[in-house]
Parts: sequence; C-alpha cells; structure tokens
Amino acid sequence: MSLLSTLRAPLAGALLVSATLAQAAATDINERIATLAEAQRPALLKVFKQLHAHPELGFQETETSKMIAKHLKKLGYQVHTGIGGTGIAAVLKNGDGPTVMFRSDMDALPLKEDTDLDYASHTQVTLPDGSKTYVAHACGHDSHVSWLLGIADVMKQTRDAWSGTLVLVAQPAEELIEGAQAMVDDGLYDQVPEPDMLIAAHVFPVWPSGTVAVRAGRRMAGSDAMDVTLHGIGSHGSAPQNGIDPVVLGARSIMAYQTIVSRNIDPQQPAVLTVGAVAIGEANNVIPDNGALRLNLRWYQEPVREQMLKAIKRETNGIAQAAGVPEDRMPEYTMKGHAEPVYNDEALVEQAQPALIAALGKDKLMPGFPPVMGSEDFPLLVSGVENAKTLFVEVGGGPADVVKKYMATGELPPINHNPKFEIVDPGLAITTAIKANSALLMTFLKQ
Ligand SMILES: [Zn+2]
Ligand SMILES: [Zn+2]
Repeated sequence: MSLLSTLRAPLAGALLVSATLAQAAATDINERIATLAEAQRPALLKVFKQLHAHPELGFQETETSKMIAKHLKKLGYQVHTGIGGTGIAAVLKNGDGPTVMFRSDMDALPLKEDTDLDYASHTQVTLPDGSKTYVAHACGHDSHVSWLLGIADVMKQTRDAWSGTLVLVAQPAEELIEGAQAMVDDGLYDQVPEPDMLIAAHVFPVWPSGTVAVRAGRRMAGSDAMDVTLHGIGSHGSAPQNGIDPVVLGARSIMAYQTIVSRNIDPQQPAVLTVGAVAIGEANNVIPDNGALRLNLRWYQEPVREQMLKAIKRETNGIAQAAGVPEDRMPEYTMKGHAEPVYNDEALVEQAQPALIAALGKDKLMPGFPPVMGSEDFPLLVSGVENAKTLFVEVGGGPADVVKKYMATGELPPINHNPKFEIVDPGLAITTAIKANSALLMTFLKQ
C-alpha cells in the first residue's frame, strides 16, 4: 500500500530511547493502524454482510473457511487449513520475539433470524438426523471473521513496528464448545508454534459500537454439555404395568436436578444446571424404550463441576433404581462439549488498557461487564501449552446510548443468541476491533 511509505516512522528503532519518544511512537503506530483499518472498512463490511446472509453451523464452515484461507494466503501468511475440520491457523514470522496467537470463531447458530436487516439470513440446512433448521449469525461471529481479515492485513503492513511470530486462528464450532479442542486434537501444534499468549475478542451489544473493554478476573464460566440417556422398558401406552416409563424417569430427574445447585453447591460458588432439551418419546400412545435429557453445566471452579456431575449421576441412578430399571439398563452419561473458565490476568489487563486508550481514546474504553455464566472455549486452544496466558477482549456492537438507557431503565438490546440480535453500525464495530486488537498484538509482540 503506497500510503504506508508516507506514514512509516523514519526513526522506528531510535524512538524507544525515552518515554516521551516511546509515546510518540505509540501514537504514530496507532495512526498507521487506524489508517489501514479505515481503508478496509468498505471491503470488510461487504465480507460481513456476505457472511451474515450465508451463515454456517459448527464444523460446517466450509465456505467461510475457504474465503478466510484465500484471503490470508494472498496476504502472504503461511496458511494451514482443515485443522479440526474447518479450522485455519495462519503464521506470520517476523523476527525474534514472543509468539502471540489471535483467535476468531466462525460458526453460526441453529435459529431463525428475526431482524429487518436487508442482509438477514434466510439460510436453512438439513441436520444429520434429517431435521431442518434455520441458521443465523446471532452471536456475531461474522464480525469476528471480518476483523480477523482486517487484523491480518494491518499486522502484515506494519511489520517494521513489531517483532515475533503472529498466529491467526479461525476456529470452528465455538457454539458447540468443541472447536478449540478439535483443533488441538487434530495436531494444531504440529503445524504452528505454541504461543506465549492468546487473545480472543467477542462482540457484545451491551457496549456501544466503537468501544472495547478488557476487565481483569473472572470473565466467563466453565461449561459442559452432557446427555443423560434414560433406559426404560417400552410398552403400549394403555399398558404401563408392562413397562418402565422413561418419560416419568425424565420428569423425576429434571425435578431432582433443580435441587443440585440450590442444595448441594456452596452458595458462594456460581453454578448453573440447565436441562436444555428433553428428547423422550414420539407418540401419544407409546411408552418408549428410552430417551435422553440434554444438560448444560456452568461453573467457575473445578470442584463445583465435579460435585454437579456426581450429583447428576447419583440422582438419576437413584431414580432409575427406585423405578426398578434393571442393573444392565442403568442411565448412561455422555460428555459432549467442554469449555474452561475464562480469566483475565491482572498484569495483562494493566498492560492492555493503556494500549487501548492510546489506540482509541479514553472515552472508547468501557469498564467491562461483570463475570457472567456465558462460556467461551478459546482457552482450550492453549490448555496444554505451558505458561500460555489468555486475554479476552469485549468489543462493542450496540447502540450509542446503550449504557445510558440501561442505567435509566435496566433495558438492554437483544443480546447474543437472541433471534433479534444485531450489530449496530457493523463497519464501526469491525474497524474498532481491528484497531484495538492490532494495538494489543503489537503491545505483546514487541516485548
Ligand atoms: Zn454464542
Ligand atoms: Zn459467540
């Protein structure tokens, strides 16, 4: 880009000699980042709308993944594709220094979008079980992909301002909390170097578009998806005496689970146990043979997680036994997705906040939301990497008056996973994320 040569600092090396000059360098590099980010806004807005209109479910992000790989290859990154299904890891080596990974997730949700956007999704897909579902980017991962491309470009164009190795990750199936682990299991680190640090950013409509936040401490909860299969004995609906009804086992189990958090877990420890789906039976007049409850667990401490798992098994087995289910037909427990809790290290946040203020201005740094029971599986990308630190960045995607309105009325716009979820001024949200995260990457890569 010709613009780059006119913006390049002539004294890049010497600028670090004093605090004042370092400040000048920071301002200068942030101006360069801003110019590069703004230049991409129209193109990335187009990418965003295209992705939004054509969302793909977890592990099915083939078109999204192809588009990202093509873009990153064109920029000169060393691109590894097909990791954990549709995952991508792209490496840019740029001299000595730390390795920093930046991750965006790609997947959408199985729900019907209910917005008036002219680029709203009408996509429908057939699931493996033959059922049909609508698909929508109701968690904003389309914006995450868009800013990943922008960050790739900025980091490539500003190589004179940082040193180290940058690894960009496009991750599948975050919503299933399976994608990060799938990439690691599929040999991510046979292909790219292990990072010293991992940054992930997520859009939230609780902050205005054009703002970001990093807050220290607990951010998001650990999570498990678990299926409980209940075996009964099938019978005619008119002859319950000949069977053991798994519908009743399910109903009893659901009620028993309600006391696990309220009666077994320390009230000082956050925990959630939700039965998200009951899949038992098909017909009015058939007592089915078996069925399943689909559970979701949220926690911050591993012992709390173990306590919940133990209690679920104890209660369900007890109910099955009491109903006379034979020993060889006891309930089965299948662990599906898993995510570790997300913590932001205090020292990292102390480094990140001034960098964000320098990049965006003080008024664009939000305080960060209090710890929530939502989840993110990105820490699993580095769960086996010794001493790797993680940083979670909140990116605003809401209306300009969202905070003011919330303080006055307690009302929030439709949040992530709501069919009415939408990013206000996505071009602004995306360029802000590019500026913020590029500045962070440079802060941590320079050292
Ligand atoms: Zn989500
Ligand atoms: Zn999400």
